[in-house]
Amino acid sequence: MADDVTGLSARLGEVIGDRAGEWDREGRLPDEVLRELASAGLLCPQVPSAYGGLGLDSRGGGELTAHVGSLCSSVRSVMTSQQMVAGSIERLGDEAQRAAYLPRLAGGEIAAAAFSEPGAGSDLSAMATTIRADGDTVVVDGRKSWITTSAYADLLLVFGRFGDAAAAVMVPADAPGVTVERIGEPLGCRAAGHADITLDGVRVPAGAVLGRTGLPLPFLVTAALAHGRLSVAWGCVGILRACLAEARAHARTREQFGVPIARHQLVARHLAEIYTAEQIAARACEHASHCWDTGSPDMVTATVLAKHVSATHAVSGAGAALQVLASAGARDGHTVARAHRDARLMEIIEGSSEMCTLILADHVLATAD
Ligand SMILES: Cc1cc2nc3c(=O)[nH]c(=O)nc-3n(C[C@H](O)[C@H](O)[C@H](O)COP(=O)(O)OP(=O)(O)OC[C@H]3O[C@@H](n4cnc5c(N)ncnc54)[C@H](O)[C@@H]3O)c2cc1C
Repeated sequence: MADDVTGLSARLGEVIGDRAGEWDREGRLPDEVLRELASAGLLCPQVPSAYGGLGLDSRGGGELTAHVGSLCSSVRSVMTSQQMVAGSIERLGDEAQRAAYLPRLAGGEIAAAAFSEPGAGSDLSAMATTIRADGDTVVVDGRKSWITTSAYADLLLVFGRFGDAAAAVMVPADAPGVTVERIGEPLGCRAAGHADITLDGVRVPAGAVLGRTGLPLPFLVTAALAHGRLSVAWGCVGILRACLAEARAHARTREQFGVPIARHQLVARHLAEIYTAEQIAARACEHASHCWDTGSPDMVTATVLAKHVSATHAVSGAGAALQVLASAGARDGHTVARAHRDARLMEIIEGSSEMCTLILADHVLATAD
């Protein structure tokens, strides 16, 4: 790991400490922790230094995300939201918007990205939220579902229809007409601030629309989701690293039938499986980040592959770790119990495993012999 990433990881470790289980049970991240991470630019470490960010490349940002994922998937989820919004501003916004918003995100404000709706989950083309021009403002109406981080957010990046096409607009979370309702007791990432959002005649300046209106929805969504997918993928590497450490320590010290359980070959096999899962997920993420850092045209496909591989291996790896720990890992709030629940959600978000499979199949069919 590069020195700057090692130093930032240490700082994150100090702020998060071993409190993830406590936050998970409470279903809430402390405000002072979020503000400390946000104001240090640690929630979106890839924002370029020209805009006040830490300026990490994709590989560095990924390793940092994996480290956070190994400590607390709820904080990692907030990082994913923040990175997704910052990345969208960089990709879709004009220079004035980059200069206006990125320093705010690198300097303490928190943001969430809102695509999903009650009738538009996997099929985002069914999105019903509307954004319409009215003089020098735009008006946003709609409902968004399960928006990670939104219970903590200052800013919401809202995607919606604009006439026959689409737009993405930055909405202050306290704007008149915005209602944020926290989702109680989610299966995993319980402190990630998931909420449903209603936007009722929300009026913001036209300059809050990223880039321009009337862009194709698939273009907007793919540009934003790519950031989220790679972040989730690296987060899954972190889950696997935490599971490997817990399973290894337990297998070495827990004795049954007169020997450490690691000496039972069926237990050792679980350890090998978790290690294999971590290595496969890490290599897929490293490849995807390399594509981002070199501007490779394979970037989008490599990112979907990394997300798919990492999420599925995080689920199998966390399951294997729970089997090694058995009752020792079966308590609510235990690292492995949390990992088991958190990993399961990674197969649903940012494009479910089924949707990733379909995208990869399309890629195969579109590739020349
Ligand atoms: C913890 C969590 C955090 C989230 N965070 C955010 C967020 O920050 N921002 C945001 O916008 N959204 C967020 N979401 C919403 C998330 O993106 C959606 O849940 C996801 O896209 C799936 O949509 P759905 O739940 O409506 O499932 P559905 O789309 O109803 O799918 C149900 C099942 O059918 C499968 N399926 C659907 N269509 C097909 C098909 N064509 N072929 C094969 N299988 C198919 C799906 O894979 C899934 O298994 C979050 C959700 C969760 C649970």
